Amino acid sequence: MRVRVLGSAAGGGFPQWNCGCSNCNGLRAGTLKALPRTQTQVAVSADGSQWVLLNASPDLRQQLVQFPEFRPSRSRSTPVCAIILTSADIDSVMGLLHLREFEPLRIYSTASVSRVLREENTIFRVLERSSPPADWETIRFGSPVTVAQNRAAEDGLVCTAVPLGGEFPDYVRRPLAKEEAVIGLELTENGKRLFYAPTLPVYSKEVKCRVAESDLALLDGTFWSDNELVEVRGRGRTAREIGHLPLSGPGGALEELAGWARGKRVLIHINNTNPILDEESAANRAVREAGFEIAHDGMEFEL
Ligand SMILES: [Zn+2]
Repeated sequence: MRVRVLGSAAGGGFPQWNCGCSNCNGLRAGTLKALPRTQTQVAVSADGSQWVLLNASPDLRQQLVQFPEFRPSRSRSTPVCAIILTSADIDSVMGLLHLREFEPLRIYSTASVSRVLREENTIFRVLERSSPPADWETIRFGSPVTVAQNRAAEDGLVCTAVPLGGEFPDYVRRPLAKEEAVIGLELTENGKRLFYAPTLPVYSKEVKCRVAESDLALLDGTFWSDNELVEVRGRGRTAREIGHLPLSGPGGALEELAGWARGKRVLIHINNTNPILDEESAANRAVREAGFEIAHDGMEFEL
C-alpha cells in the first residue's frame, strides 16, 4: 500500500491568509524554521496506478496538479478512482467541486453525510453532469467495502469505517444520526493496515485499538493545547469544544496514546497556531520524543 500526504495543515493552511500569529508571520518573514503546508489531503493506492482520495480538500486542484502520480495519460483521464469522505466539514468536501470536470466519480460516505451534501447543498449537483453521473456509495459500520482493486495482486484496498464521536458542522440544520458525523477510516491491503483520523474528539478504547493494530496511523494533530486559539487570538473556543483532542496536557493525545502503538504514528491536520510546526520548539521535540512524526506535504509511506 502506498500512502501519499498531499496536504498536512488544518483548515486555512499554513500560513493562513488572514492570520498574523507568530507562526504565520514567522513563516512569511523566513524567521521560523518550518515548512508551509496546504490543507490536509491524503491519497492511498494498492498498486500505484489507481488512487483513492481520503476527503477532498479546498486545495485539491493544486495538490493533484503538483504530484506526478495524479497526471492523466493518453489512455485514461485520471488515476483517481474514488473519494472517501470522513465528514461533511467544508475542509473535507470542498475539493469535490474541483473534481467537477465531467469526470464520473465514486464517492463513499456515511448515509448522513451523503444526505447533507446531496439534499441540502445543491451546488454538489455539478458532479451529476458527468456521464455516468457521480456514484455515491454508503459506508456502513461493520461492513468493510473494497474501494479499489489491486490490478497486480488480485486483491484490493478494503475500507472499514470507525465511529469517532464528533459533531456535524454548524451549517447542518436537520437532525441526523450523530455517530455518522465524523468517522475514522481503516484501510487494509495485503495484510497492511492504515488508520486515518484527522479529526479526533476523544480516544475511545476502539480508536486506541485501531491505532495499536495499524502499521501507520495518521492522527489528529490540530492543536497543541486546549486553549491555543484563545491564547493566540484573544477569543474563540477551546480545542475540545471544536472536536479536537489537544496533544498536550492531562488527557491529551500524547498521554492517551502512550503505550498503544506498534507502527508509525504521524500527526496531521496541524493548525497554523500549533507550536509543533516550529521545528526548533520544545513542543516539536516533545511530540518526536513521544514517538510521533509530524506530517508535511509530500510525505510518502510504503506499507
Ligand atoms: Zn497563524
